[in-house]
Amino acid sequence: MRTMPTNNRIYLSPPHMSGREQEYINDAFDSNWIAPLGPNVDAFEEEIAAYTGVRGAVALSSGTAAIHIALHLLNVGKGDRVFCSSLTFVASANPICYLGAEPIFIDSEPDTWNMSPIALERALKEAALAGRLPKAVIVVHLYGQSARMKEITALCEHYEIPVIEDAAESLGSTYGGLPSGSLGKFGIYSFNGNKIITTSGGGMLISNDEGALSKARFLATQARDPAPHYQHSIMGYNYRLSNLLAGVGRAQLQVLDERVEARRAIFETYQVALGNNKGIRFMPELANTRSNRWLTTLTVDEEKTGIKVSDLLKSLTADNIEARPVWKPLHMQPLFKDALFYPHSENLCVSEQLFQSGLCLPSGSSMSLSDQQRVINRIQEVLLMVVNPAGRTF
Ligand SMILES: *Cc1c(COP(=O)(O)O)cnc(C)c1O
Repeated sequence: MRTMPTNNRIYLSPPHMSGREQEYINDAFDSNWIAPLGPNVDAFEEEIAAYTGVRGAVALSSGTAAIHIALHLLNVGKGDRVFCSSLTFVASANPICYLGAEPIFIDSEPDTWNMSPIALERALKEAALAGRLPKAVIVVHLYGQSARMKEITALCEHYEIPVIEDAAESLGSTYGGLPSGSLGKFGIYSFNGNKIITTSGGGMLISNDEGALSKARFLATQARDPAPHYQHSIMGYNYRLSNLLAGVGRAQLQVLDERVEARRAIFETYQVALGNNKGIRFMPELANTRSNRWLTTLTVDEEKTGIKVSDLLKSLTADNIEARPVWKPLHMQPLFKDALFYPHSENLCVSEQLFQSGLCLPSGSSMSLSDQQRVINRIQEVLLMVVNPAGRTF
């Protein structure tokens, strides 16, 4: 007998409040610090800087805004080139276009799914020869896993190109013991609703360059010159985080380490339950790095399992379980069809393979064991149906 499915929706990565957010919001209401900026913003910046071990942080309205400001601070403008990971969310690259610059996409490598140092080296060599080096390199740390920063940093230092770490998905992760996002010239975090901690919407720019950060504050508040009247010498943005939302962020940051533990435990449970299948491979964790396991992600080998990842996805969706394919590489997006792209090697495009075979499973830190078991059962059912199609007896 099959039990009736308890068909409540299982989300990919829903917000998980700690219960203390309201106190910070109440403080803001009680002191009437509703308007942009205020004590929660200052404190949230200090707390993020302390957590990530950098000199300073600037709270912004989104992770996308943080990338935009970082590129602006590096003087990226019309006609410039910026290198960017291809396997990522579109927000990593859009700000390059906001500034009239040209994105050039770099493939992934198999051990981290992130920027391939081999492809990056090829791209940098060609660019140097052509006298058109990029103004910046945006390295993404996908699903919490840090990229190969040692190799990437060495290459970028050689060509004197600043690195922006898009750590939107990797807050709480480490590389060589150092916080993800703290290794480049700039790091950015996102507090969008689906991220490991959230302010409902928000972002952060971090750096050790305090001069650059004060310029970031200036740019993010409409670039208002010091004068009693409103005076502006350059174009700015309205990109600051509100004091209310910064309060939510402060309460969320207090539980970040717990959220990382919870997501890592969810990954473990999936891996123990499904890892024995020869056709299923979980996203690796590079030696000397620790991933926050923002999303548990795996690849399905169609030949070995006899199932397509798209069928698995359909089956999960039919059971009201939100799963997603891995990001569609940006060099494959219609938006960027004319952009240059450097594959890992001549015959191997790692990001395309990951897109074709990859799947993200529900990984929210508030997910119950029974919900996780429901996801696992569903996947095992699909895998089993292939081995033992319905109705067949042995
Ligand atoms: C979420 C995300 C962003 C954008 O952050 P927002 O706060 O939503 O603007 C950028 N890059 C990556 C890799 C992301 O996952």
